[in-house]
Amino acid sequence: MRITDVEAIVLGEPLERIARDSWDGSQDTVLIRVSTDEGVVGIGEVDSAPEVVRAIVESPASMRTMWGLRELCIGEDPREIARLWRKLYRGSSYYGRSGVAMHAISGVEIALWDIMGKLAGLPVHTLLGGAHRQSVRVYASLMALDSAQETASAVAALAAEGFTAVKLGGGPLGRDADTDEELVAAVRAAAPDIELMIDIGDAWETTGHALAMARRLERYALRWIEEPIWPDDLDAYAWLTLRSPVPIAAGEAEGTEERLLEMIRRRAVDVLQPDITRVGGFLATRRVVDAASSAGQEVVLHCWHTGVTKAISLHLTAACANLELLEYCVEDNPIQRSVTLEQFPVVDGHVAIPSASGLGVTLDERTLERYAR
Ligand code: MG
Repeated sequence: MRITDVEAIVLGEPLERIARDSWDGSQDTVLIRVSTDEGVVGIGEVDSAPEVVRAIVESPASMRTMWGLRELCIGEDPREIARLWRKLYRGSSYYGRSGVAMHAISGVEIALWDIMGKLAGLPVHTLLGGAHRQSVRVYASLMALDSAQETASAVAALAAEGFTAVKLGGGPLGRDADTDEELVAAVRAAAPDIELMIDIGDAWETTGHALAMARRLERYALRWIEEPIWPDDLDAYAWLTLRSPVPIAAGEAEGTEERLLEMIRRRAVDVLQPDITRVGGFLATRRVVDAASSAGQEVVLHCWHTGVTKAISLHLTAACANLELLEYCVEDNPIQRSVTLEQFPVVDGHVAIPSASGLGVTLDERTLERYAR
């Protein structure tokens, strides 16, 4: 069995309609489709800059460490996932090893697992060792709205739908201390029993300000504060995590397994948030989740994209005993809603683990046609 093609399918709103000051990465996406000579096709998705991922997939052969991923894959056996991963990693190492190249490799690796599952007639979580759960509790993840009251109403509505946890990110968060507290206070008043998180998106400028804000917001019983400061300096994160009365979360910005393992070793955060579609795919993320388990570190996967990424994250969450909560993007836009026929409905705050073979997703061809970019 041989790989015959690897495609990066970019979907998105037309460029002139992309909201340029938005934090919403679900306005567009890039799917990876791996085809084989036996007709089995695997799908992956990547949370990255879509057109850059496409360039990395389509780039022609160059010197031996600067190949595009498609050329590295053609003719290979798609079932030899770990061996092929190493070939992609090494064959792109001059421009890669992290960042978008690793994001793109993640998408290919995921598509290979989809192929394996379809060949075996088994869901990916079975191939990864078996499911520890048939459903998982999810937290609703959405952008904060400009007004605190509007945001509070949105969160109250999500609580009424059955969500037991909600995270707010972007919008006005991080701009100034009073606005941050006003928003958190309004939401907490509207939904007193919900687990509440805020995502600052690296916006607080200093560790001192971040610590002062954590102390100021302690009374609202936040489950965590996410990406309070810029992600580059792990000592700064460890300093803050040690002192903050509110748990600190981060990890989605990291593009390598090594970096996440370093975060675990240095106790940089309380809650680690790797994204499978960015750190190398299922096996790399699995190693991170297992290392975190050994270190007594909580992990909640970052998951902000279409039904494909939801399925990807659900399979790994099922397969890891220590993953008990998952991010669930509730942004209401057509890309996020309509790439897969499966909708992964939330029932009593939980989502069922997919049970069909492979990832268990079916792409909606109408969406692929309509939003091709
Ligand atoms: Mg985030």
